[in-house]
Amino acid sequence: MIGERAFARERSEVARACRVLAMEGLVTDILGHVSLRVTEQLLLVRARGPADQGLLLSTGDDVVLVDTDGAPAEDLAGHALPQELPIHLAVLRRRPDMAAVVHAHPPDVVLCSIGGLALEPVFGAFSIPAMRMAERGVPVYRYYGLVRDRRRGEEMADVLGDGPAVVLQGHGLTATGPSLAGAVVTALNLNRLAAVTLALASAGRRAPLVPPEDRAELPDLGEGFNDHAVWRAYLAKLAHSGLAVPGPPAG
Ligand SMILES: [Zn+2]
Repeated sequence: MIGERAFARERSEVARACRVLAMEGLVTDILGHVSLRVTEQLLLVRARGPADQGLLLSTGDDVVLVDTDGAPAEDLAGHALPQELPIHLAVLRRRPDMAAVVHAHPPDVVLCSIGGLALEPVFGAFSIPAMRMAERGVPVYRYYGLVRDRRRGEEMADVLGDGPAVVLQGHGLTATGPSLAGAVVTALNLNRLAAVTLALASAGRRAPLVPPEDRAELPDLGEGFNDHAVWRAYLAKLAHSGLAVPGPPAG
């Protein structure tokens, strides 16, 4: 058993990720969770305490340590693990290159999935990472239920494959990244892509795809810009909105 205040800085980071997702509307009230691998055998995950105030007000105290089989690695102090913890375990098991997982229920992503709206590369420099995601194709896990056992987790991870995100039909999304920033920004990008797709469909328009020659000229601005600079901007927005996580400062 590891002391419950181990990884205090990382717990606060997971709480910040939850707050950013809530602030941006990808999660509402109490549904959704974020995990972060902290050692080969251990991960942190947002759990739910008896007086939980929802994702927007997450703190490091809401984040608990479990092992890669999902067993508590500390006293959970009354916190319940997410029913869908197998989402995080399956992705982190399958993807040793990834450090973090986001599971959220963004309404626009859900609407696209139930409306059969394909997420296509219809914009360019507006968001290059989101365009690349669409260009690659975002897979859909065609199961409407909770992913709460190992079999469902593995099924979803199979559909995710080696990509950055998977849509869960009528449910939400799972995103992963080599850092917490990467996983959160991937989720935000997928949500942006879904919002544009949905707005076009609502307007009764089918947009042309970005021409291949234009796509080829769009630069890869790198992880430092695409993920970490964007993450810092959202942390600043949290703080400016009075939503900074109490405790250790952002690392
Ligand atoms: Zn869910």
